[in-house]
Amino acid sequence: MSICTANYPILFQNIHFLKYMNFSQTIAFTVTERFLNYVTIDTQSDPESTSYPSTEKQKNLGRLLVDELQQIGVIDAHLDEYGYVYATIPSNTEKNVPVICFCSHMDTSPDCSGAGVKPIVHKNYQGADIVLPDDPSQVIRMADHADLKNQLGKDIITASGTTLLGADNKAGVAEIMDACYQLINHPEIKHGDIRILFTPDEEIGRGVDKVDIKKLGAYAGYTMDGESAGNMENETFSADGAKLIIHGISSHPGFAKGKMESAIKIAGLIVAMLPFELSPENTEGMEGFIHPVGISGHVEEATIDFIIRDFEDDKLNRLANEIRQIADEVLEDFPGATYELQVKEQYRNMKAMLDKHPQIVEYGMEAIKRAALEAKLCSIRGGTDGSRLSFMGLPCHNIFAGEHAFHSKQEWVSVQDMQKAVETILHLCMIWEEKS
Ligand SMILES: [Zn+2]
Repeated sequence: MSICTANYPILFQNIHFLKYMNFSQTIAFTVTERFLNYVTIDTQSDPESTSYPSTEKQKNLGRLLVDELQQIGVIDAHLDEYGYVYATIPSNTEKNVPVICFCSHMDTSPDCSGAGVKPIVHKNYQGADIVLPDDPSQVIRMADHADLKNQLGKDIITASGTTLLGADNKAGVAEIMDACYQLINHPEIKHGDIRILFTPDEEIGRGVDKVDIKKLGAYAGYTMDGESAGNMENETFSADGAKLIIHGISSHPGFAKGKMESAIKIAGLIVAMLPFELSPENTEGMEGFIHPVGISGHVEEATIDFIIRDFEDDKLNRLANEIRQIADEVLEDFPGATYELQVKEQYRNMKAMLDKHPQIVEYGMEAIKRAALEAKLCSIRGGTDGSRLSFMGLPCHNIFAGEHAFHSKQEWVSVQDMQKAVETILHLCMIWEEKS
């Protein structure tokens, strides 16, 4: 089923003073209906696949979004061969306003099933445990989900217990779609050219591999893929992958005394010596880590794969050196064995790019405040499509979409947080126009 404009009443037509307008009292949101529909479409991405998009089924949602955008009146909306949706809401002002882009990803995580999602709306949440009916062992408790204490009286949407919900990132998709609907139907909201981008395969790190930055032609971007209402993120980790290859010395085990230097045992010693205070399970906030993610080998050769994360690029080098020092120390007892360490850049903290364009974050924070929320600037202990887009020439902050406990069966989002995200998008469009 697709949503057409006629299904939604237009509650206001002629509002001249919108700057501090509380949209929640003047527009009829469509975000919830859209969200409940999108999550029923399975769009799980697949890290094993080499095709673009990694799974054909992601295009099913892409096609629906294009249909809905065209019905709203966004006539250039289209899906490309790689599964990206592009669309433009043309400027309705005389002013020369920089083009801004709103972006969300359509795929869901391979970590948890996204097939046959049955969303449930729990109206007027009062703090009681939410037991998911299709697997009553799945209980969403306030004690485990800190942000639930901000949701009293709101309407919480969950899955039914056997799948994830897909609020990551279909909440963002639905919010952007509702904002498009409102912009087209309320010409009194003045804005420049607004570009829309929906990506496949973000969850497997390939969300921007095939994006056409030239075609987007935007000056600034906002991904709608953050967590709590009011949050905006201008920092991600910087990330490297490191491969440590250990060359041991093999010999017949019956005649190995004084000769064999087992690469497997050397690898084990190195892993055992990794500093606990630099492990993911013992770090938080702005702390970086070294994390062994895979180990394989035999007597003659063994390989340890690491991911290294920190917010500062210098510190990443120090973490790689830490691995080198441990390997040197262990190999002192194995004079015939050698090692090599290959470090490969994965992505970089987008803050370095964003700091050059301070008005992008300023306008974002202002929009959140105008939506009557407390604006909070945070960092992400991970990456987003935005971190790579920022280095491709589209500086891109991440704004809250309201999604929580993502990649799990206990994922949830609230109706009111999604509405606040729609309001934030509308305010952002207006602020860019106003300040141009
Ligand atoms: Zn996401």
